[in-house]
Amino acid sequence: MAVATDDRAAGGGRAGTRLAVILLGPPGSGKGTQAQRIAERFGMPHLSTGDMFRENVGRGTELGRKAKPLMERGELVPDEIVLAMVEERVSRPDCDRGFVFDGFPRTLPQAEALKLICARQSFHPTVVLHMVIERGALVRRLTGRRICKAGGHIYNVYDRPPKRDGLCDVDDSKLIHRADDTEAVIGDRLTAYDRQTRPLVDYYRAQGVLTDVDAMGAPDAITQAVFGILAEKS
Ligand code: AMP
Repeated sequence: MAVATDDRAAGGGRAGTRLAVILLGPPGSGKGTQAQRIAERFGMPHLSTGDMFRENVGRGTELGRKAKPLMERGELVPDEIVLAMVEERVSRPDCDRGFVFDGFPRTLPQAEALKLICARQSFHPTVVLHMVIERGALVRRLTGRRICKAGGHIYNVYDRPPKRDGLCDVDDSKLIHRADDTEAVIGDRLTAYDRQTRPLVDYYRAQGVLTDVDAMGAPDAITQAVFGILAEKS
Protein backbone atom coordinates (compact mmCIF):
# COMPACT_ATOMS: atom_id res chain seq x y z
CA MET A 1 0.00 0.00 0.00
CA ALA A 2 1.27 3.46 -0.89
CA VAL A 3 1.62 5.51 2.28
CA ALA A 4 1.22 9.22 1.63
CA THR A 5 3.71 11.58 3.21
CA ASP A 6 1.65 14.75 3.39
CA ASP A 7 -1.97 15.80 3.28
CA ARG A 8 -1.93 16.70 -0.40
CA ALA A 9 -0.42 13.36 -1.38
CA ALA A 10 -2.98 11.70 0.83
CA GLY A 11 -5.72 13.15 -1.34
CA GLY A 12 -7.00 15.82 1.00
CA GLY A 13 -8.06 15.97 4.62
CA ARG A 14 -7.25 18.54 7.26
CA ALA A 15 -3.97 18.22 9.10
CA GLY A 16 -4.46 16.28 12.32
CA THR A 17 -7.68 14.62 11.15
CA ARG A 18 -8.08 11.01 12.26
CA LEU A 19 -10.82 9.80 9.95
CA ALA A 20 -12.88 6.76 10.90
CA VAL A 21 -14.22 5.37 7.63
CA ILE A 22 -16.66 2.47 7.74
CA LEU A 23 -17.72 0.50 4.69
CA LEU A 24 -21.16 -0.93 5.37
CA GLY A 25 -22.90 -3.33 3.02
CA PRO A 26 -23.65 -7.01 2.42
CA PRO A 27 -20.97 -9.55 1.49
CA GLY A 28 -20.11 -9.02 -2.19
CA SER A 29 -21.08 -5.33 -2.32
CA GLY A 30 -17.49 -4.28 -3.11
CA LYS A 31 -16.41 -3.11 0.36
CA GLY A 32 -12.97 -4.72 0.09
CA THR A 33 -12.15 -3.23 -3.31
CA GLN A 34 -13.21 0.27 -2.30
CA ALA A 35 -11.59 0.06 1.14
CA GLN A 36 -8.29 -0.88 -0.51
CA ARG A 37 -8.48 2.14 -2.83
CA ILE A 38 -9.47 4.57 -0.05
CA ALA A 39 -6.59 3.28 2.05
CA GLU A 40 -4.08 3.91 -0.75
CA ARG A 41 -5.44 7.32 -1.61
CA PHE A 42 -5.79 8.65 1.92
CA GLY A 43 -2.76 6.97 3.46
CA MET A 44 -4.67 4.99 6.09
CA PRO A 45 -4.69 1.24 6.75
CA HIS A 46 -7.43 -0.97 5.33
CA LEU A 47 -8.69 -3.00 8.28
CA SER A 48 -10.73 -6.07 7.42
CA THR A 49 -11.84 -8.10 10.43
CA GLY A 50 -12.51 -11.02 8.05
CA ASP A 51 -8.86 -10.89 6.87
CA MET A 52 -7.69 -10.73 10.49
CA PHE A 53 -9.69 -13.86 11.31
CA ARG A 54 -8.50 -15.69 8.17
CA GLU A 55 -4.92 -14.84 9.09
CA ASN A 56 -5.46 -16.28 12.57
CA VAL A 57 -7.10 -19.39 11.13
CA GLY A 58 -4.12 -19.79 8.78
CA ARG A 59 -1.65 -19.50 11.66
CA GLY A 60 -3.70 -21.85 13.84
CA THR A 61 -3.92 -19.39 16.77
CA GLU A 62 -6.46 -19.79 19.57
CA LEU A 63 -8.47 -16.94 18.08
CA GLY A 64 -8.41 -18.71 14.72
CA ARG A 65 -9.58 -21.99 16.27
CA LYS A 66 -12.56 -20.21 17.83
CA ALA A 67 -13.47 -18.33 14.65
CA LYS A 68 -13.02 -21.12 12.08
CA PRO A 69 -16.21 -23.18 12.60
CA LEU A 70 -18.36 -20.04 12.74
CA MET A 71 -16.82 -18.66 9.56
CA GLU A 72 -17.35 -21.97 7.78
CA ARG A 73 -21.06 -21.77 8.61
CA GLY A 74 -21.35 -18.11 7.59
CA GLU A 75 -22.11 -17.05 11.17
CA LEU A 76 -20.65 -14.11 13.06
CA VAL A 77 -17.84 -14.43 15.59
CA PRO A 78 -18.96 -13.26 19.09
CA ASP A 79 -18.66 -9.52 19.73
CA GLU A 80 -16.20 -9.77 22.63
CA ILE A 81 -13.67 -11.64 20.47
CA VAL A 82 -13.99 -9.15 17.60
CA LEU A 83 -13.78 -6.12 19.88
CA ALA A 84 -10.60 -7.14 21.69
CA MET A 85 -8.93 -7.66 18.32
CA VAL A 86 -10.18 -4.33 16.92
CA GLU A 87 -9.25 -2.18 19.90
CA GLU A 88 -5.68 -3.47 19.83
CA ARG A 89 -5.46 -2.95 16.06
CA VAL A 90 -6.60 0.69 15.94
CA SER A 91 -4.18 1.67 18.70
CA ARG A 92 -1.18 0.86 16.45
CA PRO A 93 0.80 3.80 15.02
CA ASP A 94 -0.24 3.19 11.39
CA CYS A 95 -3.73 4.38 12.39
CA ASP A 96 -2.40 7.87 13.14
CA ARG A 97 -4.37 9.36 10.22
CA GLY A 98 -7.35 7.12 10.81
CA PHE A 99 -8.52 3.83 9.32
CA VAL A 100 -10.88 2.25 6.83
CA PHE A 101 -12.96 -0.59 8.25
CA ASP A 102 -14.37 -3.25 5.97
CA GLY A 103 -16.60 -5.83 7.64
CA PHE A 104 -16.71 -4.06 11.00
CA PRO A 105 -18.89 -3.14 12.82
CA ARG A 106 -21.40 -5.88 12.05
CA THR A 107 -23.70 -5.69 15.09
CA LEU A 108 -25.18 -2.87 17.17
CA PRO A 109 -22.98 -3.70 20.22
CA GLN A 110 -19.92 -3.56 17.93
CA ALA A 111 -21.05 -0.14 16.64
CA GLU A 112 -21.56 1.16 20.18
CA ALA A 113 -18.15 -0.15 21.22
CA LEU A 114 -16.49 1.46 18.18
CA LYS A 115 -18.07 4.78 19.13
CA LEU A 116 -16.39 4.58 22.54
CA ILE A 117 -13.06 3.54 21.02
CA CYS A 118 -13.22 6.51 18.61
CA ALA A 119 -14.01 8.92 21.45
CA ARG A 120 -11.17 7.50 23.60
CA GLN A 121 -8.61 7.54 20.83
CA SER A 122 -9.80 10.80 19.18
CA PHE A 123 -10.90 9.42 15.83
CA HIS A 124 -13.13 11.96 14.13
CA PRO A 125 -15.17 12.37 11.97
CA THR A 126 -16.87 9.04 11.36
CA VAL A 127 -17.89 8.55 7.73
CA VAL A 128 -20.10 5.57 6.92
CA LEU A 129 -20.33 4.58 3.26
CA HIS A 130 -23.36 2.37 2.71
CA MET A 131 -22.92 0.18 -0.36
CA VAL A 132 -26.37 -0.19 -1.93
CA ILE A 133 -26.69 -3.16 -4.27
CA GLU A 134 -29.41 -5.46 -5.60
CA ARG A 135 -29.50 -8.90 -4.03
CA GLY A 136 -29.26 -10.66 -7.40
CA ALA A 137 -25.84 -9.15 -8.12
CA LEU A 138 -24.32 -10.45 -4.88
CA VAL A 139 -24.23 -14.20 -5.59
CA ARG A 140 -22.47 -13.66 -8.94
CA ARG A 141 -19.93 -11.37 -7.31
CA LEU A 142 -19.24 -13.77 -4.44
CA THR A 143 -19.03 -17.03 -6.41
CA GLY A 144 -16.79 -15.31 -9.00
CA ARG A 145 -14.53 -13.58 -6.49
CA ARG A 146 -10.85 -14.55 -6.35
CA ILE A 147 -8.36 -12.92 -3.98
CA CYS A 148 -4.60 -12.72 -4.28
CA LYS A 149 -2.82 -14.45 -1.45
CA ALA A 150 0.03 -11.97 -1.10
CA GLY A 151 -1.52 -8.52 -1.52
CA GLY A 152 -5.27 -9.04 -1.23
CA HIS A 153 -5.92 -7.80 -4.78
CA ILE A 154 -9.47 -8.70 -5.78
CA TYR A 155 -10.68 -10.17 -9.10
CA ASN A 156 -13.87 -11.67 -10.45
CA VAL A 157 -13.74 -14.53 -12.93
CA TYR A 158 -16.91 -13.26 -14.66
CA ASP A 159 -16.51 -9.48 -14.63
CA ARG A 160 -12.91 -8.65 -13.79
CA PRO A 161 -10.75 -11.71 -14.60
CA PRO A 162 -6.99 -11.74 -14.10
CA LYS A 163 -4.85 -11.75 -17.28
CA ARG A 164 -3.52 -15.24 -16.40
CA ASP A 165 -5.78 -17.87 -14.96
CA GLY A 166 -5.39 -18.18 -11.18
CA LEU A 167 -2.56 -15.62 -10.88
CA CYS A 168 -2.54 -12.02 -9.66
CA ASP A 169 -1.74 -9.38 -12.33
CA VAL A 170 0.07 -7.22 -9.77
CA ASP A 171 2.34 -9.61 -7.90
CA ASP A 172 1.98 -13.04 -9.63
CA SER A 173 0.77 -14.65 -6.42
CA LYS A 174 -1.84 -17.40 -6.38
CA LEU A 175 -5.52 -16.41 -6.40
CA ILE A 176 -7.69 -17.95 -3.70
CA HIS A 177 -11.38 -18.86 -3.83
CA ARG A 178 -12.61 -18.35 -0.26
CA ALA A 179 -14.27 -21.43 1.23
CA ASP A 180 -17.26 -19.30 2.30
CA ASP A 181 -17.70 -17.78 -1.18
CA THR A 182 -19.69 -20.84 -2.24
CA GLU A 183 -23.44 -20.98 -2.80
CA ALA A 184 -23.83 -23.31 0.19
CA VAL A 185 -22.56 -20.66 2.65
CA ILE A 186 -23.51 -17.43 0.86
CA GLY A 187 -27.19 -17.73 1.82
CA ASP A 188 -26.31 -17.96 5.52
CA ARG A 189 -23.91 -15.00 5.28
CA LEU A 190 -26.63 -12.88 3.68
CA THR A 191 -29.11 -13.96 6.37
CA ALA A 192 -26.59 -12.96 9.06
CA TYR A 193 -26.23 -9.60 7.31
CA ASP A 194 -29.98 -8.99 7.19
CA ARG A 195 -30.53 -9.96 10.83
CA GLN A 196 -27.49 -8.54 12.56
CA THR A 197 -25.85 -5.91 10.36
CA ARG A 198 -28.58 -4.22 8.33
CA PRO A 199 -29.96 -2.45 11.46
CA LEU A 200 -26.72 -0.43 11.47
CA VAL A 201 -27.94 1.42 8.37
CA ASP A 202 -30.71 3.10 10.39
CA TYR A 203 -28.41 3.50 13.41
CA TYR A 204 -25.82 5.49 11.44
CA ARG A 205 -28.39 7.30 9.28
CA ALA A 206 -30.03 8.63 12.46
CA GLN A 207 -26.65 10.02 13.52
CA GLY A 208 -26.29 11.85 10.18
CA VAL A 209 -22.97 10.18 9.33
CA LEU A 210 -24.12 7.74 6.62
CA THR A 211 -24.02 8.31 2.86
CA ASP A 212 -25.57 5.86 0.38
CA VAL A 213 -23.28 4.77 -2.44
CA ASP A 214 -24.70 3.17 -5.62
CA ALA A 215 -22.64 -0.04 -5.62
CA MET A 216 -24.16 -1.56 -8.78
CA GLY A 217 -21.82 0.10 -11.28
CA ALA A 218 -18.21 -0.42 -12.37
CA PRO A 219 -15.61 -0.32 -9.56
CA ASP A 220 -13.86 2.80 -10.97
CA ALA A 221 -17.09 4.80 -11.10
CA ILE A 222 -17.88 3.78 -7.52
CA THR A 223 -14.39 4.83 -6.44
CA GLN A 224 -14.89 8.29 -7.98
CA ALA A 225 -18.13 8.70 -6.05
CA VAL A 226 -16.53 7.48 -2.83
CA PHE A 227 -13.50 9.80 -3.14
CA GLY A 228 -15.88 12.70 -3.75
CA ILE A 229 -17.82 11.94 -0.57
CA LEU A 230 -14.64 11.59 1.50
CA ALA A 231 -13.13 14.80 0.14
CA GLU A 232 -16.25 16.62 1.27
CA LYS A 233 -16.35 15.06 4.75
CA SER A 234 -12.69 15.02 5.72
P1 AMP B 1 -15.70 -11.09 5.66
O1 AMP B 1 -14.36 -11.34 5.07
O2 AMP B 1 -15.87 -9.67 6.12
O3 AMP B 1 -16.83 -11.52 4.76
O4 AMP B 1 -15.80 -11.99 6.99
C1 AMP B 1 -15.70 -13.40 6.92
C2 AMP B 1 -16.24 -14.02 8.21
O5 AMP B 1 -15.47 -13.57 9.33
C3 AMP B 1 -17.66 -13.63 8.55
O6 AMP B 1 -18.62 -14.44 7.87
C4 AMP B 1 -17.68 -13.84 10.05
O7 AMP B 1 -17.73 -15.22 10.38
C5 AMP B 1 -16.29 -13.34 10.46
N1 AMP B 1 -16.30 -11.88 10.75
C6 AMP B 1 -15.64 -10.92 10.07
N2 AMP B 1 -15.86 -9.71 10.61
C7 AMP B 1 -16.69 -9.91 11.66
C8 AMP B 1 -17.29 -9.04 12.62
N3 AMP B 1 -17.10 -7.71 12.60
N4 AMP B 1 -18.09 -9.60 13.56
C9 AMP B 1 -18.31 -10.93 13.61
N5 AMP B 1 -17.79 -11.79 12.73
C10 AMP B 1 -16.97 -11.30 11.76
